[in-house]
Amino acid sequence: MRTLHFYNTLTRQKEPFAPMDPALVRMYVCGPTVYDHAHLGHAKSYVSFDVIRRYLRYLGYRVRYVQNITDVGHLMGDTDEGEDKLILAARRERLEPMEVAEKYFRSFTEDMDRLGVLPPDIQPRASGHIPEQIELIELLLERGYAYVVNGSVYFDVSRDPDYGKLSGRRIEELLAGSREGLEGLEEKRHPADFALWKRAEPGHLLRWRSPWGIGYPGWHIECSAMSMRYLGPQFDIHGGGLENQFPHHECEIAQSESATGQEPFVRYWLHNNMVTVGGQKMGKSLGNAISLKQLFSGDHPLLERGYAPQVVRFFILQSHYRSPLDFSNEALKAAERGWDTLSDAVRLLQEAPAGEGASVDTEAYRQRLEAAMNDDCNTAQALAVLFELLRDVRSRILAGEAPGNLDQVRFLVRTWLGEVLGLWPEPVSGREAHSRLRALVELVLELRQHARRERQWALADAIRDRLTAIGIEVQDTPQGPVWRFRP
Ligand SMILES: [Zn+2]
Repeated sequence: MRTLHFYNTLTRQKEPFAPMDPALVRMYVCGPTVYDHAHLGHAKSYVSFDVIRRYLRYLGYRVRYVQNITDVGHLMGDTDEGEDKLILAARRERLEPMEVAEKYFRSFTEDMDRLGVLPPDIQPRASGHIPEQIELIELLLERGYAYVVNGSVYFDVSRDPDYGKLSGRRIEELLAGSREGLEGLEEKRHPADFALWKRAEPGHLLRWRSPWGIGYPGWHIECSAMSMRYLGPQFDIHGGGLENQFPHHECEIAQSESATGQEPFVRYWLHNNMVTVGGQKMGKSLGNAISLKQLFSGDHPLLERGYAPQVVRFFILQSHYRSPLDFSNEALKAAERGWDTLSDAVRLLQEAPAGEGASVDTEAYRQRLEAAMNDDCNTAQALAVLFELLRDVRSRILAGEAPGNLDQVRFLVRTWLGEVLGLWPEPVSGREAHSRLRALVELVLELRQHARRERQWALADAIRDRLTAIGIEVQDTPQGPVWRFRP
């Protein structure tokens, strides 16, 4: 494809992308609920949207990327029932809820840094935007889209004929759905109505004053309030995991469009698929989640060993963001082999002197890379093209026919692998380099001893002089040579 196309969940088709403001792309992605360490499922989502953001920048757009932090209101059932996830973790760890939020926000940031995910431009917290959420709820009440019962406020789904347009669920079915025995149901006019604000029972740890009494916001309202606060009533891209399509994103649309009267709230809805383990969704609540820290260290019963963050990123980008990604040690080991091959070729490319062989058609490669990414950000295809390029260049360098335009090849690889896909081989660490250097000096001295035994005094002296010239002092003793780095 010649121009960027996204698969838009709202219209269920691939559409050419054009932002409202040609110079600025406004983008929002649902962030994590910070009550535990992030797992591989989180990594798939944030790595995928990181690459989409990076590609938009490559195309010359300025991107304002907002990704929230949920630290209140996300209940265990993802709906209006169950305990607040933050409060549950606070009890488990004997911490204040805000200590829990701080601890896991840091853990999340650390993991994302290691995965090469660029930090959001704005990372607002739900608990820091209570006034914005209250204001939005007031607007919904004013316009007749919500009602108050016993200090809680609910969105009236029957007032919004569009409800269900993102997930394709029909409102009649939702209204007919029976969810007996669930807390709060007796307060709702319809089972499909959802909470905008919940009354805090005595002892509830997260509580704020509101026009309806002491309470806390529902989970969905925070994303409407914070996205519109920083991106305006309408913006270009909203991303998130497929599992958030319903009810979370459906509710965001209902709240935002009903409150502002402006449609559409979001022009392109992008959803990444999930990570599975043996075909089953990976999730904290399902008990099969592997945290990123465990994945890096290997400390989990499902893991044979640890995998480097770059291998994990490569593993994720080897499949399309809308395809499910099945975890297994075999799949990760295969990704590791692929990444090692790619890294070795990149290092060779970086170090090789330009040759006189035929030039690589970098323009043709660039077009193929863009075509892959223009097709709904097909990173798997882009990686296949980079593999082909690097394999070709590598064999030419090894055959002594390095292309004449190696600088152009380096620039292309640096741009695509490094900047667009966010993958770049780690440089050899300082300690590792030092130990290799010591081994090299020992090797040279062994060869020099050999020369001395053969009475090749001139060669032995020359070696010593050359070592001295580069700062390595050698002294011959009856026990053999001793050496040191000259300080
Ligand atoms: Zn959200």
